[in-house]
Amino acid sequence: MPDCEMCGKKTQNLIRVRIEGAVMSVCDSCQHFGTPLETKKPAIIRQPQEVKPFVPTKREVQQIVKHTPTRPRKKEADIENLYVVEEFPRLIKEAREKMSWTQEDLAKRLMERKNVLSNIERGAFVPDIKFARKLEKILGISLIEDSS
Ligand SMILES: [Zn+2]
Repeated sequence: MPDCEMCGKKTQNLIRVRIEGAVMSVCDSCQHFGTPLETKKPAIIRQPQEVKPFVPTKREVQQIVKHTPTRPRKKEADIENLYVVEEFPRLIKEAREKMSWTQEDLAKRLMERKNVLSNIERGAFVPDIKFARKLEKILGISLIEDSS
């Protein structure tokens, strides 16, 4: 039978506790000298998720400082001024055909359904900025303009 490291009593049921920074195995009657290991936070290696800090880029920092210091995300404000050019259906279709891709080929690259793309090429659906950015990147064209 192991000994309690605190009082030396032999016991079947040793409890690991932290006493003044040291981890000790103690008996039932000594465990109140320390704090149980289970409830102790696992050091400060990882921060709780909700305190994920906003880390702005250098440019964002400048903009935040210049405008409203309380506004945390300049990126979204940027997007407000952006719009997809009117001739996007033609631009997309031409660029796609230049690559000799079918609508399906392009849709796959975009990880979208084919009818989303065919609606866009018919002008029935205007892609949002995020989607337009994807199209720009994949097709090597320019679809977004800044109205500001
Ligand atoms: Zn003890």
